[in-house]
Amino acid sequence: MSLKALPSVETLANQLSQHCPLPKPLIIGFVRREIDQWRTKLLAGETHEREEIEADISGKLEHFSASRLQPVINGTGVLIHTNLGRSPLGKTAANALQQIATGYSNLEFNLPEGTRGKRAGYLETALACLLGADSATAVNNCAAALVIILRHLANGEKNEVIVSRGELVEIGGGFRIPEILETSGAKLVEVGATNKTHLSDYANAITPNTALILKVHRSNFYIGGFTSEPEVAELSALAKEHDFPLVEDIGSGAMMNTDELAPIDHEPTPQAALRNGVDLVCFSGDKLLGGPQSGIIAGNSKLVAGIKNEPFFRAVRCDKLILTVLQESIDEYLRTQADPSKTDIPTLRNLAETVENLQARAEKILSEIGTLSKAEIQIISSTATTGGGTMPTSQIPSVALALTPTGISLNKLSKSLRIGSPAIVGYTESNRFCLDLRTIFPWQDEAISATLKQLLA
Ligand SMILES: *Cc1c(COP(=O)(O)O)cnc(C)c1O
Repeated sequence: MSLKALPSVETLANQLSQHCPLPKPLIIGFVRREIDQWRTKLLAGETHEREEIEADISGKLEHFSASRLQPVINGTGVLIHTNLGRSPLGKTAANALQQIATGYSNLEFNLPEGTRGKRAGYLETALACLLGADSATAVNNCAAALVIILRHLANGEKNEVIVSRGELVEIGGGFRIPEILETSGAKLVEVGATNKTHLSDYANAITPNTALILKVHRSNFYIGGFTSEPEVAELSALAKEHDFPLVEDIGSGAMMNTDELAPIDHEPTPQAALRNGVDLVCFSGDKLLGGPQSGIIAGNSKLVAGIKNEPFFRAVRCDKLILTVLQESIDEYLRTQADPSKTDIPTLRNLAETVENLQARAEKILSEIGTLSKAEIQIISSTATTGGGTMPTSQIPSVALALTPTGISLNKLSKSLRIGSPAIVGYTESNRFCLDLRTIFPWQDEAISATLKQLLA
């Protein structure tokens, strides 16, 4: 047994901190924990060289450092990429954020009166206007929105929530409808079959303890073939007849007709759901809406007011930074309603961008790069998708740069790009590394050509 191979915490931390931008105390703590683990191994009789130990700790520190939140160039062609932060924000929203973030604001202060004011009052009115709803509010995310709706409407004896078996979905990241119902204190009443649920299935499940009917949008998967479900208007009439609300979790929150924006399916809008008689609708702020992480609740005024009065509302309310960005995003929709092509919302702009423009950018990047000695580079037609658990069958024609590396492996190439600065993430397909231009912003093109040149020239 020998601990001779063990480096000293201080010496190794000093050495590593010369090439690592993390705060020194964090590096020291990291190195101490790693050395403790090596000590245990050495005490258990394993033999290791100091160089091996130092290299291992240095590699692990690099991994840890790369986990720090940082910008990424998204070349995956997945527009709302949950792993890459869903929707990016537009310049107007980012500028407003900067202003509110660095000073004080009238978050809960009535400026004309000089008295305590109502938090999010402006936003709630703007949201209701955009959605054609009686009333609206926002919380931290769509999961929180659904939980608070259920807590408010389904409790005590009257806690049965009727859901079709075709809508007991898992969205990802721990969001499963049956589990959300359970944590909210609601009792799930499943009706129908996976592919078919009839109006009579809902009607037969109603008891004196029915709290509501819940519809959940099948955001991230698709059921085709022998299928059917009742119209929303029929469900609404059924709910009204029995005097309980119809609630719909619509997921992605498309504010406009997505099929007019790009050659993709029509995604249901909250506006249409409310028009068809849904009493309350909830959806995410950072999917197709293109705003910050948030969950929007809209519909019947009395129900929205009741939800806002729940003590639990305090636990899921948005902070001033989110409210600022959401306010800008909603105003942007209201301003550009007449001409959506003028929108500053990046998700919509990227969705609507023409293949001709993408092709022109690809050609420009290619000419900037010139010839590469370590890879062949081509422009190819590709397919982008909306992603983020929205429109699973969407296929948006796009343009990509395809690299066939020579003398460096595909894995090595993609890893070098991922751990570079800026980090660049693409995808591999038939032995090529591809970067889809639909999710890369024009102002990032220069970084792409410079990085590829540096790595592969
Ligand atoms: C994405 C999604 C959610 C979860 O939304 P978050 O804002 O991520 O909490 C819930 N329901 C549906 C139908 C969704 O598509």
